[in-house]
Amino acid sequence: MLSKSCRVFFAAFSLSKKRKGNKIMKTKQLNNAENTDNFGNTYRIDGTGAQTAVYGNSPANKSRFAILKEEIDDYMEIRESIKTGIEDYDRIKQQKKKIKKYLGATEAEWNDYSWQLKNRFTNPEELASVISMNKLEINAVKTVAAKYRFAVSPYYLSLINPDDPDCPVRRQSIPSSAEMDESGELDPMDEKGSAIEEIITRRYPDRLIIKVTNICGMFCRFCQRRRLIGEFDTNCTEEKLRKAIAYVRRNPEIRDVLITGGDAFMLPDSQIDWLLSELRRISHVEIIRFGTRTPATLPQRVTKNLASILKKYHPIYVNTHFNSPMEVTPEAKAACATLADAGIPLGNQMVLLNGVNNDPYIVRKLNQALLTIRVRPYYIFHPKTIKGTKHFWASIEEGMEIMESLRGRTSGLAIPAYIINGPKGLGKTPILPNYLLYAGRDKAVFRNWQGIKFEVPNEISTK
Ligand code: SF4
Repeated sequence: MLSKSCRVFFAAFSLSKKRKGNKIMKTKQLNNAENTDNFGNTYRIDGTGAQTAVYGNSPANKSRFAILKEEIDDYMEIRESIKTGIEDYDRIKQQKKKIKKYLGATEAEWNDYSWQLKNRFTNPEELASVISMNKLEINAVKTVAAKYRFAVSPYYLSLINPDDPDCPVRRQSIPSSAEMDESGELDPMDEKGSAIEEIITRRYPDRLIIKVTNICGMFCRFCQRRRLIGEFDTNCTEEKLRKAIAYVRRNPEIRDVLITGGDAFMLPDSQIDWLLSELRRISHVEIIRFGTRTPATLPQRVTKNLASILKKYHPIYVNTHFNSPMEVTPEAKAACATLADAGIPLGNQMVLLNGVNNDPYIVRKLNQALLTIRVRPYYIFHPKTIKGTKHFWASIEEGMEIMESLRGRTSGLAIPAYIINGPKGLGKTPILPNYLLYAGRDKAVFRNWQGIKFEVPNEISTK
């Protein structure tokens, strides 16, 4: 049995023969209803000899369009069953109602991010009051929480589908006994070894990371910095921040500063304002980036006031972190619109996670949904071998299959770079499906997204 790409290859080969046939017909059929020129364009000629271009009507084109439709048939069938949070909002509203009632919250409180933070669920019994959990699961949360802290915002909890035992939102937020597996390391990237100041990680020549807080709207169960989360919420002291700023000032090659955490948007507005004003006083800092998962886990944090602060210090970029289409809700959309309306380009850094998004259709749906809320998929990170996260690890083959399935079948804007982080701080390394099959002095041979081979001349420039 031929694979789909082989079948497409042979279909395309026969198409090219038909196209040649069309060219030969040209001279014989002049003055008939339709003709094709030497470039493959089809024209209709009326009685006066006037030509009108005909698009997509030639037999060759009709077959090609049928093939293109066939390429997306499988996704068209399945895409309705993969729901975004916007599409499943009626269900989310029911869950929100239940949680609000349990907490005795008003709508105004629900929409206030500091209320959300204060009311994060941190106790397994309370959790069991709003989502279905059996005794075993409650005990597992207790055991795991003693080792790795957990906290979930009421908002993020409202996205959990109580009827789905494999709910991807639940998997990312509720501790499971699988976290007690000892495989992996706490710091496989050796962030400690790449730390030039206590809160600075530097791995590249012209940019660095400043970690400003250990606070997050929700402590993701796969987090690469779980070792830093500790027992209590702590923002960096001004003294540590001043030291980090002084390091940036002393090193003129640093043109790009990434502010992260924890979650960078967990700093209070006044501190973000101060930090940005200090960085903007350093003439060699060209761009400032934020890493935040709040649009997905705590969208209430993205207030008009925060956006107006960020706007004063352009160019500012924000990279956020959506892993599941279910995280794309009306609230997330509003948060992203607030940032985008302030002129901030938004990118998404997805982590490839077993049981959450290691599926080509889910990633396609997620990335297309992100574009509709003005977020450009930027990276897919291969999961790191963090201790206690083995149940999230996925294979390189799964990641490659996702990349293959995106190319050609959806907008280039929806195709991020697939990246593996080299161990011990060796840095981001792209993983690419191979499209270049041969490159010699005479020619280069490629395959396209459908597996069709083609070649181009590969002349050495004489200039
Ligand atoms: S928001 Fe980011 S830093 Fe915080 S727990 Fe999740 S992955 Fe880790």
